[in-house]
Amino acid sequence: MARTAKAAPTVGIVSLGCPKALVDSERILTRLRAEGYDISPDYQGADAVIVNTCGFLDSARAESLDAIGEALKENGKVIVTGCLGAEENVIRGAHPNVLAVTGPHQYEAVMEAVHSAVPPRHDPFVDLVPEAGVRLTPRHYAYLKISEGCNNSCSFCIIPSMRGKLASRPVHLVLREAEKLAEAGVRELLVISQDTSAYGVDLKYEPHVWGGRERRTRFFDLAEALGELDVWVRLHYVYPYPHVDEVIGLMASGHVLPYLDIPFQHASPDVLRAMRRPAAQEKTLSRIHRWRAECPELAIRSSFIVGFPGETEADFQMLLDWLEEAELDRVGCFKFEPVEGAAANDLPGAVPEEVKQERFERFMEVAEAVSARRLEARVGMETEVLVDAVTEEGAVARSKWDAPEIDGVVHLPGGSDLEPGDLVAVRILATDGHDLIAGPILAGEDAADDDWDL
Ligand code: SF4
Repeated sequence: MARTAKAAPTVGIVSLGCPKALVDSERILTRLRAEGYDISPDYQGADAVIVNTCGFLDSARAESLDAIGEALKENGKVIVTGCLGAEENVIRGAHPNVLAVTGPHQYEAVMEAVHSAVPPRHDPFVDLVPEAGVRLTPRHYAYLKISEGCNNSCSFCIIPSMRGKLASRPVHLVLREAEKLAEAGVRELLVISQDTSAYGVDLKYEPHVWGGRERRTRFFDLAEALGELDVWVRLHYVYPYPHVDEVIGLMASGHVLPYLDIPFQHASPDVLRAMRRPAAQEKTLSRIHRWRAECPELAIRSSFIVGFPGETEADFQMLLDWLEEAELDRVGCFKFEPVEGAAANDLPGAVPEEVKQERFERFMEVAEAVSARRLEARVGMETEVLVDAVTEEGAVARSKWDAPEIDGVVHLPGGSDLEPGDLVAVRILATDGHDLIAGPILAGEDAADDDWDL
């Protein structure tokens, strides 16, 4: 059965107060956009409204309470945050019907209130952030959306018709947002778009000044400038266009993480042609080998579709062989599904469901074996990891080779004194085939097991 794309849930935001409050609003907006929410410029178009309040002066408090009243009258579903939110009794005294009240910088609580008022929609064929990613994003990493829409016309995809042509954000605006996120304590930026390597084509790579230098609105310049911020920079949704080669140097020199998320989707030239994939050239394998020669640490994650209309057993076998040779670190796989409005639905040669399932299982078996081999090769390495969560037994972190939610983790037994957001030097001790286990790098034989080098 064909799937229908539902309209995105929509949230409005009224932002009052000082520049710090504005940063909070921008941060909330970034989260909302990364999770697939649309932003409404008016009350009527919104499913709920967030009012970011100010509590500094009496006049600002009165203005905030008035703004909440107006939002309740015009929309009805109101979530209050910001400085006056620290005084919940004042707000509830004046407006008992607000849905939630949170204080300043409480992004997670705001997102939680939004999720319960207007549940997020997830569509694996359309969304940039994985389903698990709609959970609360910890404060130490953030998605940085650099463009909307897409100029390609992949036959299985309806994003260009839903979200329009590529519309890049000018480079200085993206960099300013990145800077603010870094200043707010974010340690890792995840660059997302529908086609990151095409960034700026629509703006003819227009230059802007940032950090005292001219930067073009272009993939390489953006990656280079982000690499100047003192944070991890991870690149998602990159296509293997020739100019991607330039960015590998930034990875080799440590400016951006040695990680590329490239949705290859298939390896058979016939299937790629039917999919109308961009950069579907046959030399991708030699490109990957060259990238790895230049940056041996490089991890590549990708996603694939099996059972695409017309995919033969020979095409599928070609995909399996390619996967073995490409040695991809992390791989996701979808069985082809017709999305209402997609050109691929009219292609001949529909693959029966049981064949799709069988190919999916064979594909995942190979992908998991390759992934386990790649992890095994990391055992013994010294590296830096970013702590995501801490329990009584230890900490759960991620390496440079793993994006949140979609890849694996690094378990740090005994790391219970660490804190989320810490960057820690570790030695990889073992792997369970999906995740890594690591310990502190010991200064000497007598160093204690919990001697974590922060
Ligand atoms: S590159 Fe293809 S799959 Fe990705 S958004 Fe554009 S049209 Fe869709």
